[in-house]
Amino acid sequence: RLVLGIETSCDDTGAAVMDETGVILGESLHSQKDVHLKTGGIIPAAAQRLHRENIARVVQEVLDKSGIGPRELSAVATTVKPGLALSLGVGLEYSLNFIQQHKTPFIPIHHMEAHALTVRMIQSVPFPFLVLLVSGGHCLLAVARDIDNFLLLGQTVDKSPGDVLDKMARRLSLAKHPKCSMLSGGQAIELLALEGDRMKFLLKSPAGQQYGCNFSFAWVQNQVTQLINKKEEAEGIQEGEILSCVNDIAAVAQHTVASHIARRTHQAILFCKARGLLPQSNPSLVVSGGVASNTYIRETLKLVTDATNLDLFCPPPKLCTDNGVMVAWNGVEKLREGRGIMTHKDQIRYEPRAPFGTDISGQVK
Ligand code: ATP
Ligand code: FE
Repeated sequence: RLVLGIETSCDDTGAAVMDETGVILGESLHSQKDVHLKTGGIIPAAAQRLHRENIARVVQEVLDKSGIGPRELSAVATTVKPGLALSLGVGLEYSLNFIQQHKTPFIPIHHMEAHALTVRMIQSVPFPFLVLLVSGGHCLLAVARDIDNFLLLGQTVDKSPGDVLDKMARRLSLAKHPKCSMLSGGQAIELLALEGDRMKFLLKSPAGQQYGCNFSFAWVQNQVTQLINKKEEAEGIQEGEILSCVNDIAAVAQHTVASHIARRTHQAILFCKARGLLPQSNPSLVVSGGVASNTYIRETLKLVTDATNLDLFCPPPKLCTDNGVMVAWNGVEKLREGRGIMTHKDQIRYEPRAPFGTDISGQVK
């Protein structure tokens, strides 16, 4: 049985055809990054237009690469939540026409569940496991108990780490930096941080805040912005020019984000152990989402999992950011279990905002 996966929740038009064992027969990804970098952020109407321009070609490409026709598909799996309304709408509209024309069953996909389960395509990671999702729109910790059963332990109370890294990169005008053209904000910060001193400046986590396993990143952005203002004044340069200490600022910002993520994850591990939420033998932490492609953040998390005797699993970097493969895989997992398959297209909707799992963050101390 074959599944076609379609992803359009944000700014990537992705598709893939996969067989039931997780073998990719064909994949294709059209990124809108270059356009959004020029406008300094995603303009939803522009994202919608670009998805519309590319979706048919991207899907045709994966069918061609796979050497199959639409009628050979057992299901179409498409991201329907959460994401930008205008972007989700394009993928869903295309999918509904497709399934009607070819009489294919449909599997609606939750984008964050797809990020959470991607790694199982590559390695056997049995349920239950702890999962940390760090991305452009989310930061959350959950216990994955089954393909459609998650316990939410905590999430960000303000911004996501990816958003903060993107904003910092923009404030530092990294799009103009010779080494950083065409890189996402997070990738640019990671690259520059390699040659920076992460201890050069100290950012202080606001004292007295108790979040349990919840995250907060607004303070990191505020303090980095203040630091940039101060340095620009000291160096006598205008906003838009590159600071001489840009590498140090990148390293400090990345380190602060990584430490905060690591501390909350440590807290979550202790909570799970106390409540018996993870297996006694070989408990695992899975990390995914765009920010999980960051090597420094992975290494910081490895210190935590080593200290607490967990195994750490991350998908390869290109499967951490948005893609059609992870959506196809989520479809495969659901098809195998016979869950979430829809045959009546009237009930299918997209949902820009969607909860993730059952929220027990109030119980996490
Ligand atoms: P969400 O999954 O929450 O809906 P999204 O789909 O827009 O958000 P992803 O594609 O999962 O986000 O991740 C994109 C984010 O990952 C961007 O904010 C980008 O800066 C960040 N990112 C990508 N590569 C890296 C990296 N190497 N280091 C840090 N951040 C990175
Ligand atoms: Fe994503």
